[in-house]
Amino acid sequence: MKYLIANWKMNLTAAQARELAAALGPAIRPGLRVIVAPPFTSLEAVAGTLAGDIELAAQNIYPGDQGAFTGEIGGEQLEEFSVRWVFAGHSERRKILGESDAFIRQKIDYLLGRGMNPVICVGETLAEREAGNIEGVIGAQLKAALAGLSVPSGAAPLLAYEPVWAIGTGIAATPQQAAAVHEFIRGEARRLLDRSFPVLYGGSVTPGNLASLITGAACDGFLVGGASLRADSFLALAAACNQAIAAGWGNKRGQHPSAESA
Ligand code: PGA
Repeated sequence: MKYLIANWKMNLTAAQARELAAALGPAIRPGLRVIVAPPFTSLEAVAGTLAGDIELAAQNIYPGDQGAFTGEIGGEQLEEFSVRWVFAGHSERRKILGESDAFIRQKIDYLLGRGMNPVICVGETLAEREAGNIEGVIGAQLKAALAGLSVPSGAAPLLAYEPVWAIGTGIAATPQQAAAVHEFIRGEARRLLDRSFPVLYGGSVTPGNLASLITGAACDGFLVGGASLRADSFLALAAACNQAIAAGWGNKRGQHPSAESA
């Protein structure tokens, strides 16, 4: 299975989100799981509009069912809209909202316990990359997220490599840069949990660079911000994914192991 996830971030009114969601039906083909993460305020509009096979994600969750957590949204509220996927560890929440590894882990545990799937994001800043500390930073994020994690059978957590310097900058990782980190992430996940996960890439993905990332980055899909906000560019991304799937994306034995188990 391959993945294409739209992260609409803090964009679109409910009316705009409904209009965009209504245009995404053609994205769906067998072998590609298309997932849309609107802001909370648009969940209801989008849930009622999406073509049947497109799935709904939330951009965030508070790790609890309900309670006195002003400003937060909990598990019961997300389940009302059949949300199956939730981001955990996105760099904008780590950096801007100050979320710690420990709090991110609480969300991951909670989501798996409630039958929802975390999309676990990791990535280094430019300074960390330039200091030669990519594996140190991502290794620590993965350890905090995965060590000792209990993954129920049937759960489908995803890992996403999102270099902070590539998010929203127009400067995507090269396929070679991404491939090297994806290999590290796969190895760490196997070492920590003895299982493989699909690994997605995110950061300035566009219809112009998607094909080369599919060919060279050894990933199982993409997490897309800016280019997911217009139907034409998102449908172009989906078409490129579907074309690559038809041409055998990731099917070569040994090319990237998670593709076989996902
Ligand atoms: P971008 O965002 O595609 O706009 O770079 C990606 C993300 O934050 O998931």
